[in-house]
Amino acid sequence: MRIDVLGVGFDNVTMAEAVERGMSLLRSEGAHYVVTPNPEIVEVCRENEAARAVINGASLVLPDGIGVIKGAAMLGTPLKERTPGIEFAAHIVERMAGEGMSLYLLGAKPGVAEKAAENLKKQHPGLVIAGTHDGYFQEDSPVVEDIRKSGADCVFVCLGAPKQEFWMAKNGSATGAHLLCGLGGSLDVFAGTVERAPKFWCDHGLEWFYRLCKEPKRIGRMMKLPLFLVHVKQEKRKK
Ligand code: UDP
Repeated sequence: MRIDVLGVGFDNVTMAEAVERGMSLLRSEGAHYVVTPNPEIVEVCRENEAARAVINGASLVLPDGIGVIKGAAMLGTPLKERTPGIEFAAHIVERMAGEGMSLYLLGAKPGVAEKAAENLKKQHPGLVIAGTHDGYFQEDSPVVEDIRKSGADCVFVCLGAPKQEFWMAKNGSATGAHLLCGLGGSLDVFAGTVERAPKFWCDHGLEWFYRLCKEPKRIGRMMKLPLFLVHVKQEKRKK
């Protein structure tokens, strides 16, 4: 059963359980996609019914931000823990490397996915990099065809939300991959072009503040966080 936070249903799993679920999807027939919404995306979903449908249509919906955890707790339906997309991705890469599986990296500015691939391969020699492609393309079909030809087991789709979620829902099956993960800016972190907040900030639920200090232009997007909390309070009153 999923836990509803303002219309988005989150899977109530620990990180270890999320990784197990991801690995079992990877081994099962057909294409499955994973999404990792934060409060900003939940706010997008409140206004965009189509985005809400593709996000709720994922096989695994993981709470990326501390705000979602707080929101669920305020609504009286707590989630077990925060499962950031970047950490989920790192665990999946480790497990895939152990089994010699192949990964395709899609998204970010030209050159970033290649650099991320190089770094991941260095850290996990057992990982097979099936291919890479930047996230600034006009037509889906040549990219889908490239992934299909590569025979990738898994694709990290990093086009920003909700673009990546629409992309996975529409093209997932045609890629031939079993698992597609929508991971926002994760390739920039794997490539080392963007630094993730140090552990202290992450452990104290302040990753968002660290990112804001590093990239002040995110302020407009981050204003969605207080709005999210206002909406959670309204929902709580209704309940
Ligand atoms: N991006 C892309 N194609 C686009 C728009 C964005 O590949 O058409 C990439 C962008 O370069 C960045 C990622 O998508 O690497 C989105 O990063 P953001 O920081 O917005 O994601 P978050 O982690 O906050 O969800």
